[in-house]
Amino acid sequence: MRTPLIAGNWKMNGSLASNAGLLGGIRAGAAGLSAELAVCVPAPYLAQTQSALTSSGVNWGAQDVSVHDGGAYTGEVSAAMLCDFGCRYVIVGHSERRSYHGETDELVAQKAVRAIAAGLVPIVCVGETLEQREQGATNAVVARQLQPVLAAVGADLANVVIAYEPVWAIGTGKTATPEMAQQVHELIRATLAQADAAAATTVRILYGGSMKPDNAGELLAKPDIDGGLIGGASLKAADFLAIAKSA
Ligand code: PEP
Repeated sequence: MRTPLIAGNWKMNGSLASNAGLLGGIRAGAAGLSAELAVCVPAPYLAQTQSALTSSGVNWGAQDVSVHDGGAYTGEVSAAMLCDFGCRYVIVGHSERRSYHGETDELVAQKAVRAIAAGLVPIVCVGETLEQREQGATNAVVARQLQPVLAAVGADLANVVIAYEPVWAIGTGKTATPEMAQQVHELIRATLAQADAAAATTVRILYGGSMKPDNAGELLAKPDIDGGLIGGASLKAADFLAIAKSA
C-alpha cells in the first residue's frame, strides 16, 4: 500500500511574513489526514519552515540540490546543507530547471544520487512538452528522462519519488485528464518494474500540473497516481489541505 504524498512546490514565492501564515495554516490543518504532506520551499526559508513544522507530521524539503558535495560552486546548495535544516525531500529535474537552467537527464540523475547518498528522498520530475505530446512522443520522452535515473540510482530506486508533470499543464490551468495521466503513470511504473519489480510496487508516482481542489479527487482516484506535486495551489493552506483531503 502506497501512502499518498501531497507535496507543495512553492517555487520562488513567499516572504517571512506570508510564510508564517501559510505554514501555520498547514500545521493547524494537517492532523488526521491519511495523506503525507510536504512543502518544498525556497532555500532561504528552510530554517523558518523547520521551526514552524517540527513535530507537526508535515515534512519539508527544497526545490533543487547541487550535484557537488561542496567547494567553489557559487550559489549552489549541497545535499548536506539541506539535511542540516531537517529536509526530507528535494525536487530534482523540475521542468523549469530543465528549460531555464539547461539541466540534462544525466545531471538530474546525478542530483538524485547525491540526494539519496545524503539521506534525502529525491522527487524526480519528468514530463513532455505540448509539442512532444502532439507529436505522439510522450512515452518516449518520459522513458528517455527516466532511464539515466534508473541506471544511476540502481538498488536505491525504492528511495525515490517520481513526479509526472506534463510541461503544458504546469501553471497553465490546463490539467491532464485523469485517463491521460493514468496512462503515463502506468507506463512509468512499468518502466520502473523493468529495473526493479519490487521497488516499482512501492515507489510513489505523483501527478503535477494545475492540480487543484476541484480536480484532485478524480486524478488521485486513479490506481497509479499516488499523490500530487502542487505548485500554485500549495500557496494557500486551505487549497493545499483540500487537495490532501481528497487523497
Ligand atoms: C509545479 O510547478 O510543479 C506545478 C505542478 O505547478 P502548478 O500546480 O502551478 O501547475
